Amino acid sequence: MKRLTAVLMALTLAAALAATLLALTLSSELQLRTTLTQILIALSMAGLVLLAAFSGRRRGTETVRLGQAPSSRRTHKSCTFSDVAANEQALESLEALRDYLKRPEKYVRYGARMPRGVLLYGPPGTGKTLLARALAGEAGVPFFALSGSDFVEKYVGVGASRVRALFKKARKAGRCVIFIDEIDAMGKRRDDSASDERDQTLNALLSEMSGFYTGDGVIVMAATNRIEALDPALLRPGRFDRQIEVGLPGRPQRLSILKLHSRGKPLDADVSLEELAAQTVSFSGASLENLLNEAALAAAERDDGHITRGDLRQAFYKTVAGADREMLASQREKQIIAVHEAGHAVASCLLSPENRLARVSILPAAHGAAGYNLCVPQERVMVEKRHLESQIQVLLAGRAAEQIVFGDDGLTAGASSDLARATELAATMVMELGMREEPSVSLKALGRFCGTGTGAAEECRALLREQYARVKALITSQIAAVDALSRALLAAETLEGDAVRRVVDAHLSIERPESA
Ligand code: ADP
Ligand code: ZN
Ligand code: MG
Repeated sequence: MKRLTAVLMALTLAAALAATLLALTLSSELQLRTTLTQILIALSMAGLVLLAAFSGRRRGTETVRLGQAPSSRRTHKSCTFSDVAANEQALESLEALRDYLKRPEKYVRYGARMPRGVLLYGPPGTGKTLLARALAGEAGVPFFALSGSDFVEKYVGVGASRVRALFKKARKAGRCVIFIDEIDAMGKRRDDSASDERDQTLNALLSEMSGFYTGDGVIVMAATNRIEALDPALLRPGRFDRQIEVGLPGRPQRLSILKLHSRGKPLDADVSLEELAAQTVSFSGASLENLLNEAALAAAERDDGHITRGDLRQAFYKTVAGADREMLASQREKQIIAVHEAGHAVASCLLSPENRLARVSILPAAHGAAGYNLCVPQERVMVEKRHLESQIQVLLAGRAAEQIVFGDDGLTAGASSDLARATELAATMVMELGMREEPSVSLKALGRFCGTGTGAAEECRALLREQYARVKALITSQIAAVDALSRALLAAETLEGDAVRRVVDAHLSIERPESA
């Protein structure tokens, strides 16, 4: 059952990721430029997904409930910027805020206006809560934390009065940091399933925030994993107008996080944190910390004085696979994963070489994902129809390869997030971009004004069916390359982009289908 929850979470987050992908590709306003983000939007990132489960487990433990004694806000040990590894950019942005929290009067003297609200956004476990706490710790001011879900209650008005109570308490404290975790719970876009309760809560928050002046030395911070789901009203000037991205750590950042958290842990001499950093692609700070802790627990149980490579290896598998080793892929599963990932990779090399394939692996990327393709997408100002089509084909290529090599019985659940993302892309093309039957019509807008019955679902299916047929033809004609690549993957488990391209180039068939 745990697994089922995991799958459900996987689906939800995959959808969220797909939405981010769209936001990223389609809107030039929302250009999040760091390489990390770009890697995030890579193929088959279902991997990230289960990290959500991690943060879910922690949720609530670090927030202070209203009504508790005021001293409870100091129960967690205070931390500072030195407790945060990686995240250099975020830290840099917070440094100015620290100075402000220490001496707000200086800013008044210069007539400067500080940001009212600071929004930290990024995947779960990347250290958003940690950063907020560290800011308060650095400035030596109290930290008031609440989770967005605490505000959303069944009874209309309860959430709003909690918001007011929180701010009242914070005002009494003078200079402080107010932190609202999971702000998406109260600040979801209002168009769908708007509830009175949520509206009131959100309005209360916005009006409380507008009541602060620069001289108060109060900073309201919020965190979310899903910035695209937030009500735009929250992001307007004078509200959460300072937005700081907190991305997944890259390899050097993973190394520094591992170093930080292995302080005081008796690692064996032959343990290589560099190697571990290289293996832990798409791990968040929280999962790295968890990995080291699992290894320490195992070592403590054995009690021979050292944390060994073996402990770390076990912990790695435990962290990736959830609970135990039986979730690790069997040989046949590995074969299917290899074929699936090889399918993505071959399609990606042939259809969108400009999105540079960085790595293909049949190792679990993180919780839940079997294997992955990492791509660094080219930044584009305008996205053309053919780009979207090849994106759909690359997404469907994993499933196509499975079906061609193993037949209908070999279909696996592993393609679910690929399918969801391809479908979402297709729906956008049909509904919003007029890229199907009628180039002059936005079916989405039409539906809003004239009701449903636009036949959009049929158009999406037809589009997906077409793209699937095209990519299947491509994979069939290039089956030698898929085959060679999947064997190379089974042997090496992870191949860097150049190695992938070498294998693919060596086995390319000249007969490429027309449509490719
Ligand atoms: P988020 O709020 O983004 O979900 P958290 O701040 O709750 O993530 O992170 C959970 C834990 O993971 C932290 O308490 C810390 O131990 C570890 N961690 C995450 N990111 C980092 C980082 N950049 N440096 C050091 N530790 C980190
Ligand atoms: Zn896939
Ligand atoms: Mg958090």
